[in-house]
Amino acid sequence: MNILSFDIEDWYMSYTSSQIPVAKWQSLESRIAFDLNIILDFLASHNTKATFYIMGWVAENHGETVKKIAAAGHEIGYHSWYHELPLDQGPKAFEADLVRGLALLQDLIGTKVLQYRAPRFSFDQNTAWAIPVLLKHGITLSSSMMSGRLLGDAKSPASPFIWACQNHQILEMPLNRATTLGVNWVYTGSGFFGCFLFSLSKKCMHQALTTWPISIPAISTPMCPLPACCHFTATS
Ligand SMILES: [Zn+2]
Repeated sequence: MNILSFDIEDWYMSYTSSQIPVAKWQSLESRIAFDLNIILDFLASHNTKATFYIMGWVAENHGETVKKIAAAGHEIGYHSWYHELPLDQGPKAFEADLVRGLALLQDLIGTKVLQYRAPRFSFDQNTAWAIPVLLKHGITLSSSMMSGRLLGDAKSPASPFIWACQNHQILEMPLNRATTLGVNWVYTGSGFFGCFLFSLSKKCMHQALTTWPISIPAISTPMCPLPACCHFTATS
């Protein structure tokens, strides 16, 4: 995974279905292709590679853009079909969504997709059932959590960690977190990144990269809240 990552979704896709229904998406102005060209040109001019987490709906409607990202040498990850929260979907719908999205992305780019990001960085102890589902379909890395989320008795750290549930485990790259005057705050990830002064975020990022632990800790979620995960078999 590249440290720099982008979620590829249009401006209307983070709204709830009651605010902007999916049925309306086709009629709204898409800014994906235009904005992506700016990002790809910028990355090329700085000789920088990134990971792009792409929604299934976007891949279906902007296939050429997805191919363009991959052709430029960037990594492709999956970011749900309709930006639904895994906790709202439940295990069965989550798996169906994952299978559909991975099949399309892999067909477009011709290589396996190994990375996943949950909408709104919403993974926590209540979605531990997703670990074996992701593993079953070849996902080995998740970047789906805001650090500080509860994982059983522990809180997720502000640096990469192995997230384990029963005998399944996956590498999780959470959003960065800083502490100021005893207050924890997240400074990377869409809205958070946009809300803070860039100079402040830059300083925090530099500090985080120089203080990350050499060994990656493991955190277990003792019991999956939904027993369905017991029926999945990990393949990696
Ligand atoms: Zn998103």
